[in-house]
Amino acid sequence: MTEPLTLVLATANPGKAQEIAAVLGPTVELRPRPDTVPDVVEDADTLEGNARLKAVAVCAATDQPALADDTGLEVEALDGAPGVHSARFAGPDGEAAPNRRHLLAELVRVGATSPDQRRARFRTVILVRRPDGSEAVAEGTVEGTIASEVRGEGGFGYDSLFVPDDGDGRTFAEMSPGEKNAISHRGRALRHLGQLLNTNEEVGP
Ligand code: IMP
Repeated sequence: MTEPLTLVLATANPGKAQEIAAVLGPTVELRPRPDTVPDVVEDADTLEGNARLKAVAVCAATDQPALADDTGLEVEALDGAPGVHSARFAGPDGEAAPNRRHLLAELVRVGATSPDQRRARFRTVILVRRPDGSEAVAEGTVEGTIASEVRGEGGFGYDSLFVPDDGDGRTFAEMSPGEKNAISHRGRALRHLGQLLNTNEEVGP
């Protein structure tokens, strides 16, 4: 039997880690980020740049291939905001509930009340960085609308406000993990990454 590929996860977010493990499956062994690796300052101006900052830090500290992802919620009525700033939309604490409240307030402020005025997309970039400096980079998106109030207990972050077009009107937080992974930005990016890793396709350093 082929040995599973070992990747050290750059994320400490348990919601993300579960989704990554569920989609990549047993052909990849995921190790948690060692406590000794501090959080990096995510100050790049693109999702790929932030994913690279996180993966490079973990790869350098462990001398193992590292996987990092970065996600943005792009809301049309807000000219693509919060985008790369999604984690700290409501302020430096980066907490999910204030971010969701701020998003709802911003949509009211610009007068975006009907679903067609509340179009949005999640975009995820996932990046594996290897000790030799080579990389595999994959992207996934999902289109949808921002609900008028939070619905559902599952998922994390903005999930209770996001109604994907490919669903049945429920928010991501009202879906099972399997239902979310089947159509989500992260599920799509991870399946693409799985193909890249299987074919050993690489993007240079
Ligand atoms: P980051 O990729 O951890 O920097 O995430 C940026 C922001 O988007 C954070 O506020 C996350 O909680 C949120 N976020 C990331 N992925 C998801 C998701 O799959 N669903 C809902 N919110 C997410």
